[in-house]
Amino acid sequence: MRVILLGPPGSGKGTQAALIERAYGFPKVSTGDLLRKAVQEGTPLGKKAEARMRKGVLVSDEVVVQVVAERITQEDCRRGYVLDGFPRNLVQAKRLEELEGSRPEVILNIHLDERAVIERLSSRRICSVCQKIFRSADLPEGEQAACDACGGDLVRRRDDQPDVIRQRLVVYERETGPLVAYYKKKSRFYQVDGGKDIERVFHKIRRILDRELAKVRENAGVIR
Ligand code: AMP
Repeated sequence: MRVILLGPPGSGKGTQAALIERAYGFPKVSTGDLLRKAVQEGTPLGKKAEARMRKGVLVSDEVVVQVVAERITQEDCRRGYVLDGFPRNLVQAKRLEELEGSRPEVILNIHLDERAVIERLSSRRICSVCQKIFRSADLPEGEQAACDACGGDLVRRRDDQPDVIRQRLVVYERETGPLVAYYKKKSRFYQVDGGKDIERVFHKIRRILDRELAKVRENAGVIR
C-alpha cells in the first residue's frame, strides 16, 4: 500500500506522515526532508536543489524523481510507504505511475485555508538533526528548546519566512492544484480537514487507512 498525502505547505502532511509511519510501519518518504538533508550534507544533488528551495520554488522533476526512485526501492518500503510532498505536479505523478503503477494507493488531500497556513508556517520549528516538526506554541518559553526525539537543536526552516511562504503558496496553487483534480478521479481519494487538531486529523486518517488496508488484504486473498 502506498499513501499519498496532498495539501498545501503547513497543512500537516509531515506530522501525519510520521504518525502513519509509527502506526502502520510504512516509512515516511518526504522529498522535502530528503532534499534538506542533501543540502545540509553538501552533496551534488543538494547543491542542485539549494537555490530553488531557498526561493520557495520547485526543484527540477528530474532531481526529485531520482531521489524518490532511490528511496522507494529500498527494502523497508517493500510493504508500502507514505509520500509526503511528492508528487507535486502532473509530470511527477505520471513518473510515479511509471515507477510503480500497480501498487494500490490511497490519496489523502489535507486541506487548510491560506490564513491558517501562514500562521502555522510562521510559528513552526523543525529539529536540525531528525527534522521532527514542532509548533512554537508547544515549546517552553524563553529556553533553547531541544528535540524530544533526538536532542537536536530546533530551528526555523529557511523557507518559513513570510515572503517565501507566499511564494510557496503560489507554487502550490499553480503546480499542485491540478494534481487534486487528477487524483480525484481515482477511487481511493479522500478529503481530510487539516484545521482540526493533530489527534483528530489522525483519527480520521486511521479510519480511512484501516478500511482500505482491509480491502487490499481481502483482494489479495489474505483475509477471507
Ligand atoms: P516541503 O518540505 O515539502 O515543504 O519542501 C520544501 C522544498 O523542497 C519545496 O519548496 C521545494 O523547493 C522542494 N521540494 C520538495 N518536494 C518537491 C517535489 N516533489 N518537487 C519539487 N520540489 C520539491
